[in-house]
Amino acid sequence: MVADTVLAAVGARPATGLLRGVVPLDPSGAVAVDPTGRLRADPNSTDPTDPVALSPAAAARVWAVGDCAAREHPVFGHVPGGHWTAALTDPGPTVTALLADGDPTEGTPGAPSAPAPAPYVFSKQLGHDLALIGAARPGDDVRLRGDPDSGGPWAALYLRPGTADHAVLDAAFLVDSPREVGGLRRLMGGDEPLTVDVARAVDPSVRWRDAVRRP
Ligand SMILES: Cc1cc2nc3c(=O)[nH]c(=O)nc-3n(C[C@H](O)[C@H](O)[C@H](O)COP(=O)(O)OP(=O)(O)OC[C@H]3O[C@@H](n4cnc5c(N)ncnc54)[C@H](O)[C@@H]3O)c2cc1C
Repeated sequence: MVADTVLAAVGARPATGLLRGVVPLDPSGAVAVDPTGRLRADPNSTDPTDPVALSPAAAARVWAVGDCAAREHPVFGHVPGGHWTAALTDPGPTVTALLADGDPTEGTPGAPSAPAPAPYVFSKQLGHDLALIGAARPGDDVRLRGDPDSGGPWAALYLRPGTADHAVLDAAFLVDSPREVGGLRRLMGGDEPLTVDVARAVDPSVRWRDAVRRP
């Protein structure tokens, strides 16, 4: 491929300027919300430098989904929006919570009972199917599953430093492996981190479910 000029536009930032001074925003500009999409702020904050002092009743009635939100996940922390899947799946628990009975100032009604889905981004670039499941952390060990130069499927695994033989899988970047995506999303969903047998996880002939280290 030949080009005179190449523009790489990588990354995303929530366009939440209209909310500034109205609801608290995290350092990225996103609205930090709990797993149902409810504003996650300390409504009792008495910090005089806080430009947004919402009453508890007002804070309990602020909800956000999609690109403007960073949603709390039991395993992956605050997951920023910026991808289709969150925009598609996050409204479900939010609507459930919104429709639930009860005083919204007393806990979160209708908290989702289904396992929290793992963060998931998919795309097609230069003819390749790409999928990122989970959320990598600084300091993760990156190991390959398969050979990127082979022209076939491969993956990069982001492993939390663990023991020599097993580690928590923080994220997996799958290339041209569409049949592996659904199963791995299921394994990485829920409220517990997924621990894998490292030697098996990096072996492309081993199915993901057979690489899971059971407690
Ligand atoms: C070029 C591009 C490529 C992408 N590719 C991928 C990809 O490959 N994979 C992936 O997972 N995601 C991708 N995304 C991201 C994905 O499109 C977004 O994450 C998703 O659309 C977010 O949905 P949303 O409903 O939160 O926001 P949006 O789709 O942005 O919807 C927000 C809506 O609010 C409206 N609005 C804004 N301000 C106001 C206002 N003040 N009053 C009333 N209405 C208002 C807007 O007009 C818009 O219709 C891509 C995005 C772009 C731009």
